[in-house]
Amino acid sequence: MKIKFWGTRGSIPKPGKSTIEYGGNTTCLEVISGEGDEYIFDAGTGITELGADLMKRYAGKTLDAKLFLSHKHWDHVQGFPFFTPAYIPGNKLDVYSGDADVTKEDLERVQRKQDGVETRRITKGDLTDRLTKETAIITNKNGEMNKAKAMFQYQQTKPYFPVEIKQTGAELCFKDIAEGVKVSNGVEVSYRRMNHPDGVFCYKIAEKDHAVVFATDYEHDSNASLVTEGNDKKLIDWARGADILIYDGQYTPEIYEKKKGWGHSTYEKGIDIALEAGVKKIIFTHHDPTSTDEIVKDLEKRAKEYLYQRMDGRNHCCLSVEFAKEGSEYTIG
Ligand SMILES: [Zn+2]
Ligand SMILES: [Zn+2]
Repeated sequence: MKIKFWGTRGSIPKPGKSTIEYGGNTTCLEVISGEGDEYIFDAGTGITELGADLMKRYAGKTLDAKLFLSHKHWDHVQGFPFFTPAYIPGNKLDVYSGDADVTKEDLERVQRKQDGVETRRITKGDLTDRLTKETAIITNKNGEMNKAKAMFQYQQTKPYFPVEIKQTGAELCFKDIAEGVKVSNGVEVSYRRMNHPDGVFCYKIAEKDHAVVFATDYEHDSNASLVTEGNDKKLIDWARGADILIYDGQYTPEIYEKKKGWGHSTYEKGIDIALEAGVKKIIFTHHDPTSTDEIVKDLEKRAKEYLYQRMDGRNHCCLSVEFAKEGSEYTIG
């Protein structure tokens, strides 16, 4: 599979001379499977450039793509109203999001009610099946519509935007997926819920023996000095052996001390997690809007020095460290 960064900036777009090298558009990642299928992760402003590129690549053909949302903060959704392929009749776009309102505890409550047995717990084997069914039930309670669809409709409401989502020409199909469910189509995509204000879905994209884990907007455990417990352990287990871990590197360790609870992480924690998980490459993304190219370059230098220290001064290490640049591409497998 191939991946390409179309948006690497966190929080708000930052165009201009000082961000030309690493990019000013907010989060959007493209994954093209070995079969040539199109997957998109997040719809920050980077998706508008991707849309223009897809219009050229699919000229005279129809596009059938899958879009996954890590979460619904503006910097991950605000490019969608300007994603041209969504307005072309004949194109098909499946939009997936996790369902933040459904937790395992919710499901256990539902099951206890259904079974009339207070003590029975869901066993691991039937959890996936139940998650799918129960998500449908819970999502529809009180007549609530699909969460991703509701958000897209809300975003494209007058007076904020003149074209409503129902007026887009492409066939849009919105799907909430539960934690543990795999969307399979040659490539398998699934997520684990991670730590971020309002929640975030950390997707793993797997094809044959290869995997990419997309951990944007992840905040590490600020109280735990070790990465072998809590949320960090959850991410390590999820990312274990991946070819690439894409990781939130918004803050320096010093700035993080002032921004605990804001939902982002540092290169130090990213490297600790990547080493523990045995991933081959870590790519830091979601660059802070105040980080100029010079600052990001300095962060990259500091990250490599930190890795060198962690390796006790040995130059050769199984982990490679990069900071994402808008337009950069990687081939896996
Ligand atoms: Zn963000
Ligand atoms: Zn966020």
